[in-house]
Amino acid sequence: MDTQFTEAQLADPRISRANDILRSCVHCGFCNATCPTYLLTGDERDGPRGRIYIIRDILQEDREATSSEAHHLDRCLSCFSCVSTCPASVDYRRLIDPMRERLLRSFGQSLGGNIFRCLIGNVLTRPRLSGLLILILQPIRSFLRLAPGPFGRLFENLPATRPSMPMAAGLYKAKGDRKFRVILNSGCIQQTVAPQINKSTISLLTRLGVEVVVPAGGVCCGSLDHHLGRSAKSINFARKNVRAWQAAEATYGPIDAIISNASGCGVMMRDYAELFKEDENFLSVVEGYAEKTIDISFFLHEADLKLEVKEKLSFKVAFQMPCSLLHGQGVAAEAGPELLRRAGFEVFRPKEEHICCGSAGTYSMLQGVMSEALKKRKLEALKELEVDVVASANIGCLTQLDGGLEVPTVHVVELLDWATGGTVPNRLTGSMPGGVNGKTHHLA
Ligand code: SF4
Ligand code: SF4
Repeated sequence: MDTQFTEAQLADPRISRANDILRSCVHCGFCNATCPTYLLTGDERDGPRGRIYIIRDILQEDREATSSEAHHLDRCLSCFSCVSTCPASVDYRRLIDPMRERLLRSFGQSLGGNIFRCLIGNVLTRPRLSGLLILILQPIRSFLRLAPGPFGRLFENLPATRPSMPMAAGLYKAKGDRKFRVILNSGCIQQTVAPQINKSTISLLTRLGVEVVVPAGGVCCGSLDHHLGRSAKSINFARKNVRAWQAAEATYGPIDAIISNASGCGVMMRDYAELFKEDENFLSVVEGYAEKTIDISFFLHEADLKLEVKEKLSFKVAFQMPCSLLHGQGVAAEAGPELLRRAGFEVFRPKEEHICCGSAGTYSMLQGVMSEALKKRKLEALKELEVDVVASANIGCLTQLDGGLEVPTVHVVELLDWATGGTVPNRLTGSMPGGVNGKTHHLA
């Protein structure tokens, strides 16, 4: 792609880097074929190639985005399906990520939009606060969902179940000989609305001989604020997490890995070094931790921990692949389906699994129309499989698909824990012991 930056502009390393990325694009348009938003609208400005042109113009002319440009850029999910597809290895992520902050300034003109972004950034990232608010608002949920725009969507998605308190920090000892010591990133909103995911993770890991540390002072990974363009906030969260990991190692000893059981958080934490690339002193510390950050399924796979199946459960499981695993963590993506198979489940994959379900962090709240259309597409693909349960590896996908199917949605780790001696996932207990949706589950 042709660019016309001045010498003065190129003296700025951020522009120089953007220039290199822009120039690597040969505008072939292959990426449009796998871009969820382009597939929905067919508008070039809703595809990666069009967005790259928009970004080039904004940077080159050194200005804010027009409302039309902001509209099309903000519709990008940051799913990075385009990055997986691009034959020229165009690093689109490093173009759109810095743009988010600039977009926030464009949205600054809308008071309602600003209040909403501030609300979700400040509340969803704090489990105690979000839990308290959910508790207070649950009784008036049906009234609140009538609120206009994103507020209505936010309240519509209020969980019906009682919120949980954050997981207790500390050491969870391995059963038997300790093979590894890991830190578990306990997350933010996941702790409040789906505490069973962390519980199953700890239950499974400790049974397999892994000592788990939940660090005191661990906070949100920063991805929600990162997506909202609130860079300073996301850097602050990242710094707090790194400090908490250092303190945990000082207390409990060196760790082998940092486990993430939400692939959206994992992709953010694995990229922490990008946030601190201008902070030389902190950078090497962050790089060490980022390298050790690994998705739970990939850790189980790589550590070659033997899953001793207690109950062979003849369940048909659809694996819903999160973009943050497939496009964000590459080789790690196949570990989940493989482990489920090893644990005795029959695994099915929906068509178009590379296309995002429309969750994408705060996207489902901010881009309701697009998000709903993608959700519908994903639900239809999953329904075709006629399975007993849908499993995924990211709280965002699970929340997005929840209630849209006649079968429950659970985290992969809940099924693995169950099959190897843990408790039945709570989403499945409603129809137990007769089985999911009246089907009998057979013990082999
Ligand atoms: S596939 Fe890659 S090179 Fe082709 S238009 Fe898209 S970003 Fe550019
Ligand atoms: S990140 Fe996803 S939504 Fe955004 S341009 Fe790429 S493929 Fe399209």
